[in-house]
Amino acid sequence: MTDVIPAPALTRVPVRGGATFPVRRIYCVGRNFADHAKEMGAEAPAAKSDRGSPVFFSKPTDALALDGTAAYPPGTQNLHHEIELVVALGHDAPAGMLAVEDAQALVFGYGVGLDLTRRDLQAAAKANGLPWDTAKGFDQSAPMSELVPAAQIGDLASRTLSLHVNGTLRQQSRLDQMIWDVPDILHELSKLYALRAGDLIFMGTPAGVAALEAGDVCIGRLDDLIELNCRILPPAV
Ligand code: MN
Repeated sequence: MTDVIPAPALTRVPVRGGATFPVRRIYCVGRNFADHAKEMGAEAPAAKSDRGSPVFFSKPTDALALDGTAAYPPGTQNLHHEIELVVALGHDAPAGMLAVEDAQALVFGYGVGLDLTRRDLQAAAKANGLPWDTAKGFDQSAPMSELVPAAQIGDLASRTLSLHVNGTLRQQSRLDQMIWDVPDILHELSKLYALRAGDLIFMGTPAGVAALEAGDVCIGRLDDLIELNCRILPPAV
């Protein structure tokens, strides 16, 4: 059979060392750092046993911006940065619910990404009980670094995620401040979706989210192990 249109390109994230990682889906976690939940006016759980269920949303795979730039999007007056750990799955989950203790074995590696957000549209969606798609899933809303194999990163809990904008530190947190760690999130996602090799998970952002303007230069880091560079370009139109 012949395609009636040219097949859309599969998004591939570079992997350190020269290979590429073909992307199947992008899941995102909301409110995974207590300090960020508080700055957004949400309740932060007092203890792990009170944490309830995580907030999930998605971005389209072609929202990834991999060339070091992202255009300021249309339709917003308040584009925000959210620096996040990105997890890449190298294996399919078994059928049914994934046990927390089996989850780490699915992980191929890690990157650093920006969950760019039209904060004004998100606030309006929240106020009206509407979906977040236009606030979160727009073109070039997911700038991302290369992926680094998990073995080169080691234990995540003591690692520090940070974001500088134009040389000024905007966001910084150790990853042990995540309310749900990587195995917890994979376990929770598996209750809702069949996880597959090729899936990316944006793990949520710490406090310090703020506005970006065209011309801003963002540098996200996981210690000195992974670096994301992204310059915000003027609107495309
Ligand atoms: Mn986020």
